[in-house]
Amino acid sequence: MLCRKCKEKAVINLRQYNLPLCKEHFIERYISVVEDTIRRFKMFSRNDKVLVAVSGGKDSLALWYVLKKLGYKVTGLYINLGIENEKGEEGYSNMSERCCKNLAEKIDSELIVENVYQKYGSPAPLLDRNRAPCSVCGITKRHIMNEVAKKYGFDVVATGHNLDDEVATLLSNVLRWDEEYLKRQYPVLPAEDGFSKKVKPLVFLTEKENLAFCIFEGIEFYHEECPFSKDATSIFMKNIWAQIEEKMPGSKIRFFREFLEFRKKFLSQEERKDLGKCSICGQPTTAGDMCAFHRIISKIKVQHN
Ligand code: SF4
Ligand code: ZN
Repeated sequence: MLCRKCKEKAVINLRQYNLPLCKEHFIERYISVVEDTIRRFKMFSRNDKVLVAVSGGKDSLALWYVLKKLGYKVTGLYINLGIENEKGEEGYSNMSERCCKNLAEKIDSELIVENVYQKYGSPAPLLDRNRAPCSVCGITKRHIMNEVAKKYGFDVVATGHNLDDEVATLLSNVLRWDEEYLKRQYPVLPAEDGFSKKVKPLVFLTEKENLAFCIFEGIEFYHEECPFSKDATSIFMKNIWAQIEEKMPGSKIRFFREFLEFRKKFLSQEERKDLGKCSICGQPTTAGDMCAFHRIISKIKVQHN
């Protein structure tokens, strides 16, 4: 296989576009997809302070690296969720924290670390044992991201969601025809009274492309999956997508692009009017006078440090 651009030996074939590329042209294309996405969706400018939520995995670290390379004002945020495994101290959260710290050093960028276990005395997914771990963990992560963005005056929070994440979520939402979720599924969520603006610059790139970018650029990331992820619906949806894509390459990107067009035409974008304020943290909430996170926290014995 030869690179479509230079006819040198190709190192990767993007089957969805029938596009074989050499290392140099793959990296060039990757960077330009990120830049186009930022521009097309007016995500942020070079004057904005961007908080990049990093997990230690390939997607978010690729994002942090590429934004820094493009000259944006970025700071990493690592939320240590307190998740360990049989290996004890060398578990999921500590290992991924180390990958984030290594990259911060490599690209000379600031990294903010928040530690859930130290602050609340429990791993994030187990803060409320009556709920699904990923749901509690998701609420906790969103809460901390907003809190940090507000505290340090960031203009926008960027996350490493990729095309595989988006089509997995989209399929779940479509299976339920969940209009509210479908309306909110977009590469940009504007700032809303107390919530910071959120953007996903990697939505047109697949996991495979992020993995290749990390390998080619020498970005060290944590490979293991979170031990709670086995039961996650998103993994199930991703397996279904892998089968669809195998049979019909290009289905993921088509499904997502067509959805964005559909959304523009059919889903109205009126602002949510039903938001109240959390009496503890002041963040907006649809659930009475306490946000979802503080309803969880109020139930456990809080261990302040
Ligand atoms: Fe949290 Fe679930 Fe993701 Fe693990 S898989 S980090 S528990 S949301
Ligand atoms: Zn709150």
